[in-house]
Amino acid sequence: MRCPFCASEETQVKDSRPTEENTSIRRRRVCPDCGGRFTTFERVQLRELTVLKRSGRKVPFTREKLQHSVEVALRKRPVDAERIDRMISGIVRQLESSGETEIHSAEIGSLVMEALRGLDAVGYVRFASVYRDFREASDFQGVLGELARDVTRDMGDVPQAGTAVPAAVAEGEMPGSAHHDQAVAERKR
Ligand SMILES: [Zn+2]
Repeated sequence: MRCPFCASEETQVKDSRPTEENTSIRRRRVCPDCGGRFTTFERVQLRELTVLKRSGRKVPFTREKLQHSVEVALRKRPVDAERIDRMISGIVRQLESSGETEIHSAEIGSLVMEALRGLDAVGYVRFASVYRDFREASDFQGVLGELARDVTRDMGDVPQAGTAVPAAVAEGEMPGSAHHDQAVAERKR
């Protein structure tokens, strides 16, 4: 396995163990050339899937691409690598067991949204902004509204003004998020 940091071909396996659900083998590897450490997972691939893009183009489904887009959304977020891996596995399993061999990219996108929503609010908003291709403030507001409903539900159906939006989101990890409440409120009048 090539080192992702320096591209050396000489990486060594430090240890191998089955993951929690025993559906894959997790190997920790180290690169003797640069000292880089990384983890690989070995798992069964049940069937070949094709992704049908919005453009009509067809590309082979790969777990790696799915994982990459999730990792971009969760960059620098405090989410454990193994939880991310379980989430990806869950999505792949759903896709593989759907009975279809061609899957619309939108379908994958909504599965990812659904999973991220329970995992990390900031990652969810980041992914949603790319996947839904936000063009207007109201699109963004819609996603924040969904999150607010989640939080409200988690708090036992007690609506609590001002606590709905996760701090990292409210504090501008997304561009231009500060004034949307006001904008929407004004539009409603
Ligand atoms: Zn290396």
